[in-house]
Amino acid sequence: MSIAAEKIREQVARYGLRMASCGLVAGTWGNISARVPKEELFVITPSGLPYHDLAGKDMVVLNLRGEVVEGEHRPSTEYLLHQAIYQARPDVNAIVHTHSIYASALAVARQPIPPILEDLVQMVGGGVPVAPYARAGTPELAKVAAETLGSLGAVLLANHGVVGVGRTLEEALIVCQIVEKSANVYVWASLAGEPVPLAAEEIKALRENYLQSYGQYFLRSAALRSKTGGPP
Ligand SMILES: [Zn+2]
Repeated sequence: MSIAAEKIREQVARYGLRMASCGLVAGTWGNISARVPKEELFVITPSGLPYHDLAGKDMVVLNLRGEVVEGEHRPSTEYLLHQAIYQARPDVNAIVHTHSIYASALAVARQPIPPILEDLVQMVGGGVPVAPYARAGTPELAKVAAETLGSLGAVLLANHGVVGVGRTLEEALIVCQIVEKSANVYVWASLAGEPVPLAAEEIKALRENYLQSYGQYFLRSAALRSKTGGPP
């Protein structure tokens, strides 16, 4: 296994713990993956093991055909979902899948999150659509999730949860946090009155600004960490 793959295994383990620590999942649900740079591989959390017990060695390495290349455990049952997104989106280097509460509530109601907040449209590129229902772990779910995600940063899975993607693990995790916050705000705003989405030209400008300036933070911080080997 390459040094790059070993580093990504450590990072995925750390971000699994962070995802669990910030309350986006309960128990062993949810999963996280990241590409190995310049190798046609990705690293994913194992199936059914608690995040607080996981170390880099417990992560599973797969190729982009979905075959296990290295790992002592079975990969997350959602590895097909991650594989489908990596195949469809060369710009995506990390994927976080959570079962957070407000986003799941909207996924159950099959209600997309409209583009209602500046941070949401900056990080996701618009609102968050809902993929049609397909059972967890199936090739059908992988297909509809990747199709519905399109070029956006997040998608809701009907009766299930959220998938957030990013250029780095940090970005993908924060996408999931922003989606959860936006779902929460949308529910409350709907009770308070009629939520007003941002205009299309405003969404475009905010997204471009994020990609060209503010969002560079995620790339710079990831590069710095990979040089220093510091914590995420
Ligand atoms: Zn799930």
